[in-house]
Amino acid sequence: MPMTMTRRTLAGALGAVAGATLFDTPVARATLRIAAARRGAPDDAILLNSNENPYGPSTKALEAATRAEGVANRYPDSLEDDVRAAIAKHHGITPDRIVLGCGSSEILQMADLAFTSPERPAVVAEPTFEAVLTYARAIQAPGVKVPLTADFRHDLPKMAAACDAKTGLVYVCNPNNPTGTIVTGEELAAFVAKVPATTTILVDEAYHHFVEDPRYRTACELIEKHPNVVVARTFSKIYGMAGLRLGYAVGSPDKIAALATFASYSNANATVCAAAIASLAEPDLVPRQRKALNDARRWLAAEMKKQGRRTIPSETNFMMIDVGGDVSPIIAEFRKKKILVGRKFPSLSNWLRITIGKPSEMEAFAAALKEIVPVKNAA
Ligand code: PLP
Repeated sequence: MPMTMTRRTLAGALGAVAGATLFDTPVARATLRIAAARRGAPDDAILLNSNENPYGPSTKALEAATRAEGVANRYPDSLEDDVRAAIAKHHGITPDRIVLGCGSSEILQMADLAFTSPERPAVVAEPTFEAVLTYARAIQAPGVKVPLTADFRHDLPKMAAACDAKTGLVYVCNPNNPTGTIVTGEELAAFVAKVPATTTILVDEAYHHFVEDPRYRTACELIEKHPNVVVARTFSKIYGMAGLRLGYAVGSPDKIAALATFASYSNANATVCAAAIASLAEPDLVPRQRKALNDARRWLAAEMKKQGRRTIPSETNFMMIDVGGDVSPIIAEFRKKKILVGRKFPSLSNWLRITIGKPSEMEAFAAALKEIVPVKNAA
């Protein structure tokens, strides 16, 4: 009986999805309501706090995910092989250069487990995405934090100088979360040439697809010459699948084998494998999502300028706004207005991180910001 009901529900959802547009599906709306409920926010809250993609997966990805219910009782081994092959084809490499993760978060955890230890520190920027240091702490691996430059970018020369023969891992988040800034291809190549070959260089490209700055290059291009480079990617951002969980690493066969030692068994579920394969087969998906979100970001940046506020130019689906004072009470005020905004980053405590949402959500945020932080108080 419960199974019948589940099937009916899924069939209903699929029927609705078939006639809907990518950007406003009933499933996407339902997903948002569930997420809002999970965070203790009202059903109609605007979620601008976790760098998620408000449009969700494409219709074809959702259809493929729904079809995967037929193999829900089977371990996903062959689907994992299929998605690894599809990712390898996408990158023009062989599957032995790819390892899957339950989100790219698991890739970062695997990298700490494989390459750091109490004797082998991790070097990271400050602030950056916290996972590498969090997982390192759990295994008593020391963390070395290198502050960003005055223009909020990784200080690669200082990070290279912080690496010595003992350093297990150096983490470059490009573009960086929370600042949305990039390091250029040239800067990255110079950095990689300086870091000891015994140190693994983990380049996290979670926001790769949003970048428009022509000076940016993916670090995948560096792996051939520098096999200590590993690149992390995710289906959570441009592909809109944060709730389904799939990430992967690209690297030399040796580095991939070292990472895979620490992967949990069957870490890529059947649903997400099917959805990811469908997404990679859809060539207009990435440009469409990129345009929708980057246009909304440009609108928000222009609006903030009109309001007289400083922003950090971003190459991602989020943006930092200077609110002229500590963000904690401001975050609480936004919550009262049913808008969830990014958490506080202690070393940038006056900067509020906003995830880019739909145009209507950006308008609601901009209007609320005017009320919560009148322009005279902004920098
Ligand atoms: N890396 C960066 C830079 C992120 O910002 C995030 C999430 O926000 C992740 C990795 C983890 O993403 P996921 O585990 O969903 O792939």
